[in-house]
Amino acid sequence: MDIFHERASLRKELHSLKNQGKTIGLVPTMGALHQGHLSLVGQAAEENDIVVVSIFVNPTQFDNKDDLSKYPRDLDRDISLLHTVHPTIMIFAPDVAEIYTDDISSSSFDFDGLEFQMEGRFRQGHFDGVGTVVKRLFEIIEPDHAYFGEKDYQQLQIIRTLVKKHKLPVSIHGCPIKREENGLAMSSRNERLPDDLRNEAGFIYEILKTSRAQFGTKSVQDIKTWISDKVNEHPKFRLEYIEIANADTLIPARQKESGRKYRAFIAVYAGEVRLIDNIALN
Ligand code: AMP
Repeated sequence: MDIFHERASLRKELHSLKNQGKTIGLVPTMGALHQGHLSLVGQAAEENDIVVVSIFVNPTQFDNKDDLSKYPRDLDRDISLLHTVHPTIMIFAPDVAEIYTDDISSSSFDFDGLEFQMEGRFRQGHFDGVGTVVKRLFEIIEPDHAYFGEKDYQQLQIIRTLVKKHKLPVSIHGCPIKREENGLAMSSRNERLPDDLRNEAGFIYEILKTSRAQFGTKSVQDIKTWISDKVNEHPKFRLEYIEIANADTLIPARQKESGRKYRAFIAVYAGEVRLIDNIALN
């Protein structure tokens, strides 16, 4: 397995592979890998000759210093996990200076309003940070295909917009959410949950599934109120937002309109750990 810490050496290697006509699939991650990440890697491996997994905890997408410093990091474990599952993939694990040189700041992006909804309302500057790092990774690696999880559905829509607006020559693939046995969406942050909260957090997916069943018979507002009441039944959890939105524009829905796709989006604090999840409603 090839591990690259420097963009120059990675580019050199990729250049020669591209000259041989090989296609490149990229899976950007922040490490602390789990089965959700591996499902993206699996899809990339099926659809490309070469897979690059980037492992980089991007400082500019964190609006909270504590969250950044507590973000789980274990490169050796990530490497051996990837090696077990996909022995031939390439890992790009740069340090911060390799991506940002001496200016750790974001560019400012216009994502057609997607950036003002949900995560954008609660995480200041988050999507500028995401746009900055993903655009740089695309420039360094020049992948043919890149893979993102629906777990971060708003991010996926933002990346699609980034690619369209900047005419970047990469096709974007959205991959389904992988869940733990109790339904909790897999996340690197789950490692920070104490066992009792991790077990109890399965209720989040249960209420999303119930809201999907209610969609069409109950009003959007009634579903949101019901979800909020349900979260409040769990004293160790605190709802940050619940939204039902158009799946393309992410504009909050007032009522269901025919011919449109909708999703429910939720952010919940379990103790001090922030969890997000979403579900297609129709
Ligand atoms: P992260 O390391 O959290 O930045 O995630 C890297 C990529 O993996 C992103 O595209 C995420 O949406 C995706 N991802 C994270 N968790 C899951 C999951 N449970 N199921 C599917 N994809 C996921």
